[in-house]
Amino acid sequence: MNNIYMDNNATTMAAPEVVQEMMPFFADYYANPSSMHFFAGEVGKKVDSARQKIAALINADPVEIIITSCGTESDNTAIRGVLEANPDKKHIVTTRVEHPAVLNLCRYLSKRGYAVTELSVNHEGLLDVNELRNSLRDDTAIVSIMYANNETGVIFPVEEIGKIVKERGIPFHVDAVQAAGKIPLNMKTSAIDLLSISGHKLHAPKGIGMLYVRRGIKLRPFIIGGHQEFGRRAGTENVPYIIGLGKACELASQGMKEENGRVRKLRDKLENFILDNIKHTNRNGHPVMRLPNTSNVSFRHIEGEAILLSMSYLGISASSGSACTSGSLLPSHVLHAMGVPFDTVHGSIRFSLSRYNTEDEINYIIEKLPAVINRLRELSPFGKDGRSSAPSAS
Ligand code: PLP
Repeated sequence: MNNIYMDNNATTMAAPEVVQEMMPFFADYYANPSSMHFFAGEVGKKVDSARQKIAALINADPVEIIITSCGTESDNTAIRGVLEANPDKKHIVTTRVEHPAVLNLCRYLSKRGYAVTELSVNHEGLLDVNELRNSLRDDTAIVSIMYANNETGVIFPVEEIGKIVKERGIPFHVDAVQAAGKIPLNMKTSAIDLLSISGHKLHAPKGIGMLYVRRGIKLRPFIIGGHQEFGRRAGTENVPYIIGLGKACELASQGMKEENGRVRKLRDKLENFILDNIKHTNRNGHPVMRLPNTSNVSFRHIEGEAILLSMSYLGISASSGSACTSGSLLPSHVLHAMGVPFDTVHGSIRFSLSRYNTEDEINYIIEKLPAVINRLRELSPFGKDGRSSAPSAS
């Protein structure tokens, strides 16, 4: 059976070069880097070198990198660590379209004495920078805004936002889990103070992430114990996975520009085919301010889950909304925040590509998808051509 994998915003395949680089660190270089013997020293040097590669992806200093277990831990560490270090400030600014790693944490904190402003987005998924400016208060402890949205790929103008936030002297956290490896990041010239990355979104394995913390930013550790990660995240280092993340960051740094161009062409070929040839479809999200790998399209009057299942029988893996929310069948909070009508939200599918996708795979989807949609529309109460008495979203 085919396995055409277009769900890379949910997770990516670990690159073969990454797996190969990790292997010796399970049974050969297994020493604890904190021990005093020569063997530990050798492992420690490899960890240092991996940390340098991780820092290089975002042009930061290695001491500004805290290794974590995932993007969720990085987001939690950033927000909770800054709040704890600034106990007098009780206001948080974020957006309505953040990943649950940020949004649910902020909603949790709102029940524990914090005021939370959730900024809105327009129908293309873009923020109003003036709304952000007006939301800042004297007691704002942190602004946490994602770089690129996991469901639509829409990119926020984080540097423009960062300048406004910095003018007020407020720490600025960016969830770059979907942006890392797809957008060049340079912390030396950036207004970002804290930046979250997750390994499994950029061809490292699941179970590893990192948080960049600019020198001078006050942050209380989230996980307390030993002295690891410069005293900012306790726990014996996950050496093989740190090595893997280092290699993945190196590969991402090397191939980013070329791969982005190639992936964007494939994504556009698929998306343009759908929009031009399948009736009652539309793109969700800004056409240009978007990650090159992500296409979120709605097939109106059909359930996204039915499309996913039919594609799955053909060996095509995609997603409806984020992997976390699709299990619950709740309508996507991101599309909802964009004001996308109900039937359009329910027929939405996210294709998210990676450097491993090929033109043959796109051609296969183009060949098979129209028949899938026709068949589902025939079964739907709205009829084959999508006509119905129900109001259409045009
Ligand atoms: N932030 C964004 C934007 C994401 O897309 C995800 C995962 O989908 C996360 C955070 C959480 O990352 P992790 O799965 O590594 O915890």
